[in-house]
Amino acid sequence: MLNAFSWKTPGSRNCGLMALGVLLAVLPGCGSVEQANGLTEFDGARAYAEVEALVQFSPRDAGTPAGWKAAKHIFQRLETFGVDADLDEFVDMTPKGKKTMINVIGMIPGKKREWVILGSHFDTMPGIDNFQGANDSGSSTGVLLELARMIQASGVQPDIGLIFAFFDGEEGIAGYIPGDGLHGSRHMARQLLESGDHKKIRAMILLDMVGDKDLRFTIPYNSSRDLVQETLNAAHRLGLRDRFTLSRSIITDDHVPFLEIGIPAIDLIDFKFGSEPGLNDHWHTEADHLQNISAESLEITGRITLQILNQIALQQKGD
Ligand SMILES: [Zn+2]
Repeated sequence: MLNAFSWKTPGSRNCGLMALGVLLAVLPGCGSVEQANGLTEFDGARAYAEVEALVQFSPRDAGTPAGWKAAKHIFQRLETFGVDADLDEFVDMTPKGKKTMINVIGMIPGKKREWVILGSHFDTMPGIDNFQGANDSGSSTGVLLELARMIQASGVQPDIGLIFAFFDGEEGIAGYIPGDGLHGSRHMARQLLESGDHKKIRAMILLDMVGDKDLRFTIPYNSSRDLVQETLNAAHRLGLRDRFTLSRSIITDDHVPFLEIGIPAIDLIDFKFGSEPGLNDHWHTEADHLQNISAESLEITGRITLQILNQIALQQKGD
């Protein structure tokens, strides 16, 4: 993830392309009808295995050959699961000039022509020696891949369609000045706005840094109130309410470009990734490796996300 600030208001907006718009137009909003209730089991070990596979591409900085390989790897995993997938290449200006980056998009259409976006970045922070980014950005990518696999495998057709968005270029390289970082999410939000498809997006749920063995979500202040409530309801139902704190800080992360175009969004993040509870000393260091994340934390994240989806996307309402 990028950076955190206390008590500041979200900033400006951006705009751009069409591959996603084409996808949204082509995919039908209906198909076989399945009972949508009861998706509750999430396999943390499988999600961990996805993280293990992803961090073979380390570092996977935006615009580098390893970044490309990571994107293709994620794309191939989605295809293996039978999920409709797309590689969305784009060029964006960074503080170090133009870079070619690539988002990976997976889609499971719902009964309605509306969508919920589940997001994770997959690039790594540049300039850190021996950096795996197992937590930032492996953990959320692993959870999202396993969610895509198990929902597709369940045969359940969601009421609201699901877009799995794997963002490139989240990490900033120049002290988070405007235009630095969030490249993939800004690109996707721009596409949605220009095509008008942003009106079809019910919610955007971002996962980031969800693998810490001591998993404590710190939901940033710049998250949409309704989604915060859905999340707390989900946590309560699963007996996991004590894992969540509502932070009074805002966080500049991939959910922000969606908030800026009027899409309700939330960042499910544990921004205390450290050697002891309360510390964040593993963040953006070589200590962000596989041994410092756990399958159990990935499983908790998967179960929470699935429960939120049960509440807002998977179950039929009023049909
Ligand atoms: Zn980061």
